[in-house]
Amino acid sequence: MTTCVLAATGFDSGPLLLVIAIVLLASGSAAWLLLGWRKRGASTAVFAAVPLLVLALVASGGVSVTPASAAEPCPPPVSSPVTSPAPSDPATPIDFQPGAAGIGDSYFPLDGNGGYDVQHYDLDLAYAPDTDVISGTTTVTAVATQNLSAFNLDFDTRDVNGDDAITISSITVDGKAATWSLASTQISKVTGQPQAEGSTDDDATPPRTELTVVPPAGIPLGSTITTAVTYSGVPIVVSDAYGPAGVFPTPTGAVVVGQPRVAATWFPSNDHPSDKATFSTHMTVPDGLEVIGNGRLAGRETSGETETFDWEMEKPMATYLATATVGDFAVDTRIVDGITYVDAIDRSLLTRDVRNAPGVKVGDIASQIFETEPEVINFLSGSFGPYPFSEAGGIAIGYIDEGDPTAVPPVRPSDLPYALENQTRPIYPAWAFPADVDASVVVHELAHQWYGDNLSMNRWSDIWLNEGFATYAEWLWEEGQGGRTTQQIFNDAYTHDYAADDDPDFWQTVVADPGAAGIFNSGVYTRGAMTLQALRNEVGDDAFFAILKGWATENAGTSVSTAQFVDYAESVSGRDLTEFFNTWIYTPGQPPLG
Ligand SMILES: [Zn+2]
Repeated sequence: MTTCVLAATGFDSGPLLLVIAIVLLASGSAAWLLLGWRKRGASTAVFAAVPLLVLALVASGGVSVTPASAAEPCPPPVSSPVTSPAPSDPATPIDFQPGAAGIGDSYFPLDGNGGYDVQHYDLDLAYAPDTDVISGTTTVTAVATQNLSAFNLDFDTRDVNGDDAITISSITVDGKAATWSLASTQISKVTGQPQAEGSTDDDATPPRTELTVVPPAGIPLGSTITTAVTYSGVPIVVSDAYGPAGVFPTPTGAVVVGQPRVAATWFPSNDHPSDKATFSTHMTVPDGLEVIGNGRLAGRETSGETETFDWEMEKPMATYLATATVGDFAVDTRIVDGITYVDAIDRSLLTRDVRNAPGVKVGDIASQIFETEPEVINFLSGSFGPYPFSEAGGIAIGYIDEGDPTAVPPVRPSDLPYALENQTRPIYPAWAFPADVDASVVVHELAHQWYGDNLSMNRWSDIWLNEGFATYAEWLWEEGQGGRTTQQIFNDAYTHDYAADDDPDFWQTVVADPGAAGIFNSGVYTRGAMTLQALRNEVGDDAFFAILKGWATENAGTSVSTAQFVDYAESVSGRDLTEFFNTWIYTPGQPPLG
């Protein structure tokens, strides 16, 4: 089922402006429809347990993927150019058009937007743990990539019924009041895509909501747009095809984490990893709590009963990697080899036993594993090149759901089912810290700082460039620790009985195009890493590690595609690798061994 919810608010916009807004919104919405859908041939997709991330979710079994073909976000396309005189040449009118409602990713056609490129996000927010209300102003600085009459931001302010969870009170563009409207599209809880006509899939929560901003005058191509959105409300926790995500209230604050959808639940954004931007995150909380964000702690200031933390992420970051996690944390800050480490451990973990290890405290293990971060980063630098940031660390979080001890039978509190590579400061649930002090989850998330964070996906179909590489980093680490060699791990993975893991379609995942519902398939991780080992065998160690390092350094701070990687591997190795990559990442089925 697909619904469309449209409402205009703003500065006394009146009926005429409302009509204009609807027309503009419609023409913006049309763009993604015109982009067309890529129908995936996959008839099944498996959410398999991926013990080392991103999904340790255990939701296995065949899931039917309905090819989306006729999703309908809102009214039918209407072309409505807006013209106004060019400032430089009054005789030549500029043809201003609304930006598209999607950035052009067929997996998630409403994610991101067209017509501009974000340079910087400034989040000036307050969080009230007693009410879970987040409030303040997010300022988005962008450059217009077309002449814009209107543009969209992704801002998932509405619940599945269309009611406002977050209310916008004002929007300005370049300091002048703008009008705006909101349009929500239900998302399938099965496919992660907009609900197709006639779909019987459950709706994900929240729907994707497009915020269309209409500036007082057209914005010429190349100009800087500064959009300030002031809002207040309780962010909606995401429940979709990929597990929980969002701003999770905890007993002392809130954990902010998720992939692929999380950013738009707490700030208006161009919510797609192909539009990276720098971030300033100012978060005000009751005095006594900590806020752990990305990058550098530029300041903290107490005022009355509150304290404001200023975090600066000075290198470009994908929106889903942003966090401002609030709580009662034990924070350890140190500088090793020029890198500032900030490690935060939720104080509830200091007294919590590791599962199946009575008396062993999660907090103690977390602290021991965090101590090894410089060693891990040095180790990974040997294969991947210099660590890309000047900050590092991690956040060990407690329960994201307290359960209900009064229920019959009682509901246990729950941990986040995945860890995530939040830029410079990954977020780890308690299970990432096992009694045997195995650091492999931390190795995985730190490897993502090279592959996934500093280099982002151009499209979600490219996610193996993140997960295959981070999984291969775990293999390198295991070998470096005196365990199996990467070739032995490859061999074990090649001969593994995936059907016995309830993952019978493991070999059917097309690594470089796993389908929207399959972005966290185990094949993306394991077969992705196997592809790298096979590439190493194909081109030899010298060329292989030159590829890994050069890929990371030459594309620093950008978003990259699989096609680029294939080209790069061919140029460094001097080999035609067409057949190799066709077999390993573009074709389903178990590749034969040479
Ligand atoms: Zn990962």
